[in-house]
Amino acid sequence: MSGDMADWAAYTLQGGVRALLDMLYPPTCPLCRSPGVDGPGLLCESCASSVEEEGHTAYCPTCARTTPPFAVSDGRCGHCREQKARIAGVVRIGPYGGELGAALRAFKYQRNWRLGASLGDRLATALQQAPWLEEVEALVVVPQWILRRPFAGDYPPALLGRRASRATGIPVIPALRRVKGGPSQIGLTNHQRVENVRGKFAVARGVRVDGATLCLIDDVMTTGATVNECARILLNAGARAVYAAVAAHVSHDSARGLVFCQP
Ligand SMILES: [Zn+2]
Ligand SMILES: [Zn+2]
Repeated sequence: MSGDMADWAAYTLQGGVRALLDMLYPPTCPLCRSPGVDGPGLLCESCASSVEEEGHTAYCPTCARTTPPFAVSDGRCGHCREQKARIAGVVRIGPYGGELGAALRAFKYQRNWRLGASLGDRLATALQQAPWLEEVEALVVVPQWILRRPFAGDYPPALLGRRASRATGIPVIPALRRVKGGPSQIGLTNHQRVENVRGKFAVARGVRVDGATLCLIDDVMTTGATVNECARILLNAGARAVYAAVAAHVSHDSARGLVFCQP
């Protein structure tokens, strides 16, 4: 059964129980708990428009950091100008600090599949605005360690990738595999993050990426250590260029929130 079918079957199975629960407990917005939403798992109008508004925040097209447009030249901001970036360009839905981050946490930790689907659609919209989208031949989801997969073997970036693939018509290929787990990136310094992520990924057996232009899909980007490591592996395996599409970027002012959002 395809991933989409599995999502749909699971959702339909829950439908009858949900309808009864909806009568007893009318659905509320997963972020602000206000009633009057169109269905379970969906955002209220006010939270949806906050997420929409946050999506208009300007950011650096290389490192995804929130940056005013005047601070970007030649596609680089002051923060990433001196850094070696393996990622050729990045798009995001918005910054992690506000309602978008809350929506992502509700998606991941409350297993709110409907919210994940709408975030995937927003990621697709961001991707469709990328000046480099036409070059991209395949999407590659950043694999997560098996113990961090809340959706019965599936994991949040994979759901986002499927929605983005459906909207853009670009296939997802399983080009990367996670070879080990280890501590998460949360709470580590920039240098520790780069060290921590080394050796965690490899090109999947039997997949050839030589000459291909790829776009990584991930849910949250902080320093970019993970996507840059994945890009390094793909480029070493012969990929021509690697871009990235991430749901949210954590800037320093919202990094604290990320620490507290872990279950
Ligand atoms: Zn709300
Ligand atoms: Zn930058």
